[in-house]
Amino acid sequence: MASRRSTLGSIACLACAGLFGAPRARATTTPVSRTTLTPDQAIARLLDGNRRFVADDPTPIDAGAGRRERLAAGQAPFATIICCADSRAPPETLVQAGLGEVFVARVAGNTIPPVDLATVAYGVEALGTPAVMVLGHEACGAVTAAVEVVTRGAIIPPIMQPMLGPIIFAVNAVRNQPGDLVDNAVRENAKAGARSLIRNPDFAEKIRVGTLKVVAARYDLHAGKIELLEL
Ligand SMILES: [Zn+2]
Repeated sequence: MASRRSTLGSIACLACAGLFGAPRARATTTPVSRTTLTPDQAIARLLDGNRRFVADDPTPIDAGAGRRERLAAGQAPFATIICCADSRAPPETLVQAGLGEVFVARVAGNTIPPVDLATVAYGVEALGTPAVMVLGHEACGAVTAAVEVVTRGAIIPPIMQPMLGPIIFAVNAVRNQPGDLVDNAVRENAKAGARSLIRNPDFAEKIRVGTLKVVAARYDLHAGKIELLEL
């Protein structure tokens, strides 16, 4: 039986062979190369893009025909971002990333259900992103709903309940802490997601040798700032 590591290796090979995101560009197109950024450089680039966003100094995005043509032959993003589906927090905008620069999994409440864990693994193993950011945000509706469930017994429609399960753990973990419970839970939820990735044996070796870094962060709706959180 294949180990998880070898399974991911196989996925990477399939990606190299073009079986995922199969290249459709003309054979003469040179695909973009895998990022050479270190984990710290990749995180710094995310934060630098966010500084420009906060400063209202937007970066011109290369989305022209040449860029599209190169990306059609294969993508090589420099970071994977797990973030909320909230319309006020589109990660590419927040970090001023262009086409093909960040690999994103968005789900309300920025939790990491199995399919999103698989997405992270694809970003890391097949696409070679050296950094993963789990990004929560101020006034998250999913976190607020989880707080309502925990503190007031609010009833959530069954179809939405899978969204809240992991967040309820985060709410309970910080329930007795001083300060705003929703914001404390936003922070804890992002940190718990990052910690779960760090603990995952599929990423352990890369983290141990320093070729992968996982961080948690919080986006402030008012200031526009992304703040790294201590794990
Ligand atoms: Zn949210």
